[in-house]
Amino acid sequence: MELIDGKKISSEKREEIRETVNKIKSQTGKIPGLATILVGKNSASQVYIKSKIKACENVGIKSFHHNLDEKSSKEDIINLIKKLNENSEVDGILLQLPLPQNRDIQDCINSINPLKDVDGLHPFNAGLLNLSKNWDEIIKKNILVSCTPLGVMYLLSKSNIEIEGKTALIIGRSNLVGKPLSMLLLSKNATVIIAHSKTKNLKEICKSADIVIAAIGKPSFINRDFIKSGAVLIDVGINRVLNKICGDINFESVKDMNIKITPVPGGVGPMTITMLLENTLKAFYNRKQK
Ligand code: NAP
Repeated sequence: MELIDGKKISSEKREEIRETVNKIKSQTGKIPGLATILVGKNSASQVYIKSKIKACENVGIKSFHHNLDEKSSKEDIINLIKKLNENSEVDGILLQLPLPQNRDIQDCINSINPLKDVDGLHPFNAGLLNLSKNWDEIIKKNILVSCTPLGVMYLLSKSNIEIEGKTALIIGRSNLVGKPLSMLLLSKNATVIIAHSKTKNLKEICKSADIVIAAIGKPSFINRDFIKSGAVLIDVGINRVLNKICGDINFESVKDMNIKITPVPGGVGPMTITMLLENTLKAFYNRKQK
C-alpha cells in the first residue's frame, strides 16, 4: 500500500497560495477576500467553517464570516448573499451546506454572483464545466469548480497517477462531489462510471476500476472484496463513528493490498480547503478582468 498524503500535498500548495497572496498585496494593494455563511449550529459544519477561516488567515486571505440563526428564512439568506455580492472586498462567497432542514439550497446558491461562486454550484459555473471540451479549457478559462473534486484531481496529479484511458469509478452522484468530478475525470480522458444507491453489481463494477472514488457517506462501506490489485483509491467520505472520523473505504481491510490510497483524515479533507483558497484567488483574478 502506498499512502497519498493529502496533508503534505495540501500544505505545499498552501505555501504557493500564500506567496501568490503576498504578491497580489504588494502589486495591487488589495487583499483577496472570502465570505463564509453558516446557518444554524450544525456541529460538523461549525468545525468545517472554523478550519476554512483559519486556512484563510494562514495564507493571508481576508475572511468575512456570517452566522445566521437556525430559523433564518430563505429570504434572510438571500439578502445576506446580495449584500456580499455588492461588497467589493469579497471575492468569494461560500454558503456552508447542508442548510437546516436542507431547505431551498439551490435558490440560495442561485443568488450568489457566479463570479463569486467559489463552490462552483451556481448553474452558470456548473454549465461551463459541463460544456468544457477538455482539462486545458477548464484551466484556461479559470472556471470555478467545486472544491472537493478539484482537490481529488490535484491529489491524482501530484501523485503522478495516469488518468487517460483508465477506468474511473465514482461512487456517489451529488452535485457537490460525484457529478463535477465525473466531468473533470472525463476532461482528462478517463472512462468514467458513476455508481449510486440503485447501482446493481457494485462489487463487480468496482473490481474492474483502475481508480475508485468513494463519495457515499457510509463508514467503511468499501472493503478489499471490491478492489483489484493495483487500484488507486480516493476516499472522500467523512463519517463520525464513536467520536472518530473514518472514510467510506475500510482502510484496515485494504491496507496490505497493492494499492494507492488517501487516508481519512489527512487525505481529501485538507485538499478541499486548499482548493477553496485557490478558488478564492481564481475569483479575485476573474473579477479583476470584468
Ligand atoms: P450525498 O449528497 O449524500 O451523496 C451520497 C451519494 O452516495 C448519493 O449519490 C447516493 O446515491 C450514494 N449512495 C448512498 N448509498 C449508496 C450505496 N449503498 N451504494 C452506492 N451508492 C450509494 O453526499 P456528498 O455530499 O456527495 O458526500 C459524500 C461523502 O463525502 C460524505 O461522507 C461527506 O461527508 C463527504 N464529503 C467530504 C468532503 C471532503 O472534503 N473530504 C467534501 C464533501 C463531502 P443516490 O444518489 O442514489 O442517493
